[in-house]
Amino acid sequence: MKNQPQSPYPLIARKPADPQSYGFSYNSVEFRQNNLQICAGLNAVDNIDNVITVMRTLQQFGLTCTRMGVFKPRTSPYSFQGLGEQCLPQVLEQAGKFGINVIAMEITHERYLDTLRELMLRLGNPTGILLQIGTRNIQNFELLKALGKQHEFPILLKRGYGITLEESLLAAEYLAHAGNQQIIFCLRGVKSIFAEEHRNFIDFSQISTVKRLTKLPVCVDPSHAVGNLVTDPQGIYDIFHAAAQGVICGANMLLIDIHPQPELALVDGQQAININKLPWLLEDIQITHAAYLQRIKRRRLEIFSCDQDTEICSVNDNICSSDV
Ligand code: PEP
Ligand code: MN
Repeated sequence: MKNQPQSPYPLIARKPADPQSYGFSYNSVEFRQNNLQICAGLNAVDNIDNVITVMRTLQQFGLTCTRMGVFKPRTSPYSFQGLGEQCLPQVLEQAGKFGINVIAMEITHERYLDTLRELMLRLGNPTGILLQIGTRNIQNFELLKALGKQHEFPILLKRGYGITLEESLLAAEYLAHAGNQQIIFCLRGVKSIFAEEHRNFIDFSQISTVKRLTKLPVCVDPSHAVGNLVTDPQGIYDIFHAAAQGVICGANMLLIDIHPQPELALVDGQQAININKLPWLLEDIQITHAAYLQRIKRRRLEIFSCDQDTEICSVNDNICSSDV
């Protein structure tokens, strides 16, 4: 048999024609290449009332994942830098109260790992934390090594905004090489003059590229891709359209900024969906997800009725075990 050329990122790579669906389970939540998790929440925690409002609302809709920015990497040193450690105990405790199993939270320095570890221990692990590595830190190799070395927390790695997809996947390989393979890869767009009038330019075809090349579940962040609340003539937000494009192409997670009062948000309020639109957002996602499942079903029919021998790498036995 001919040898396959080795992948530049062998630990996270999927072998050609491997039909298996990869992923992992963390704190009772499944992050897999064949399901969809919705992770809506505050870009940055500004006060505990908003944390409670968001978590209570998510619970009402049966959602168990959220995002809560606490350490914020900002372009300007004069911008709000996040509430930091001081708000952490309350954020974690409230998550436990409202049945939130996983909080996506960016950490910008490895020292915060110890902060999180100690606090989680002291509070009796009220929730789970998905460590986010932001687009700006994707080539902070010491941070990658430090976060890759730990095994308590899985990692949400955001694609670099100004590097190639391969370079971004090599950052994921750094995490795996250091020992942690519980990685979700997040597409959030790249900086480009061609993005106008959005904040970043996102290539949705990279969802299937990453799923084909690697074992990583793929997240889409439509909030940072679009970056504003413009709508089409029907009044549908471009952010909803970007979320839908992610879902129809098989994204496994959506990371979305919501806020009880976007006009008062201290970070990225211009892209935060008002929380009163959450029912609409969820229904919109459900509509698209049903269409995605139809597409999978149609492909299965194709395989089982006419080309049984076809090699496939995207269809698997429990593809319909979706969480949405
Ligand atoms: C964020 O999710 O709040 C964030 C800073 O994202 P990114 O790293 O993609 O800019
Ligand atoms: Mn942001």
